Amino acid sequence: RLPIIAIDGPAGAGKSTVTRQVADRLGLTYLDTGAMYRALAWLILDRHIDPQDEPTVAELTSGAEIELIPRLAPQLTGVKVNGQDVSDAIRTPAVTQLVSTIAAQGAVRAKLLKLQRKYGDQGGIVAEGRDIGTQVFPNAELKIFLTASVQERARRRLKDFQAQGNQAVDLAQLEADIAQRDHLDSTRAIAPLQKAVDAVEIVTDNLTIAEVIEIIIDLYKK
Ligand code: C5P
Repeated sequence: RLPIIAIDGPAGAGKSTVTRQVADRLGLTYLDTGAMYRALAWLILDRHIDPQDEPTVAELTSGAEIELIPRLAPQLTGVKVNGQDVSDAIRTPAVTQLVSTIAAQGAVRAKLLKLQRKYGDQGGIVAEGRDIGTQVFPNAELKIFLTASVQERARRRLKDFQAQGNQAVDLAQLEADIAQRDHLDSTRAIAPLQKAVDAVEIVTDNLTIAEVIEIIIDLYKK
């Protein structure tokens, strides 16, 4: 099969931009696994299901058909749930807030793990997520763990919101939200957010996107 690059790390470390651009530069396919978790979170909100009710979440998950829609940058990856395009709906704060609760559940992870491996079975992909190097593609040719301080990640999110014309966002609130999501993602029982033992860690606080991309491409070519 063709090579696989796994890029994991917490929210706001720059994964989406970096992963997509690395894929473009190397002529590989970009795989956004977070979009799949977001799609299920959206479905649970849409159906007014209690996200803590694991059996009901599992039942809904098992019947759900999830399909990624590749989109051109700077748009984020799109997704269809049961044929309905929810590409924009999965990026709302309500979904972002709920998604870690859903992503901790066994039935959800089992279903999406299978789907992600199907997308990657020919190789030739650069995949981003939380457990790509540890669970989804443990045999990836290159594993990167991309991270940055909570303060820096919150500052970046604030800039993104402001660029979208949304001024009513508070830095302290963003920091709290990011810390909360980190905590949920890294303390869950199944496939917690974790650096794979053979991953290269890149701390991006003082690096530009372009510098991070160069580091990854250099590592890949070695
Ligand atoms: O990367 P993104 O912010 O879209 O991920 C949303 C959430 O989906 C994460 O906070 C995490 O709870 C979950 N996720 C996961 N495993 C992945 C990708 C995302 O648990 N491989």
